[in-house]
Amino acid sequence: MLLITCPYCCTARPESEFRYSGEAHIARPLEPATVSDDDWAAFLYMRTNPKGLHAERWRHIHGCGRFFNALRNTVTDQILKTYPAGTPRPGLGAPAEGGR
Ligand SMILES: [Zn+2]
Repeated sequence: MLLITCPYCCTARPESEFRYSGEAHIARPLEPATVSDDDWAAFLYMRTNPKGLHAERWRHIHGCGRFFNALRNTVTDQILKTYPAGTPRPGLGAPAEGGR
């Protein structure tokens, strides 16, 4: 079982209190009407699938209910850091191959 530290509640809680919500740092186009169909489809559906460090969005659904981001190693399933949504990805070394 994973123990995840919510950056708002500041306590390590079991993963059953949280819900995975996809890749973090996906920016919605500012003017969707001007985006090509291919770029819109890429925004909606294309995600990275790195082997190694991955920035993910999580929600503390059985706690404070807030969204936050986590850096998780997809090989070891270890969460290295959690940080509030809307803040930049913290630097923990080189990004994973194929990552952003
Ligand atoms: Zn929380």
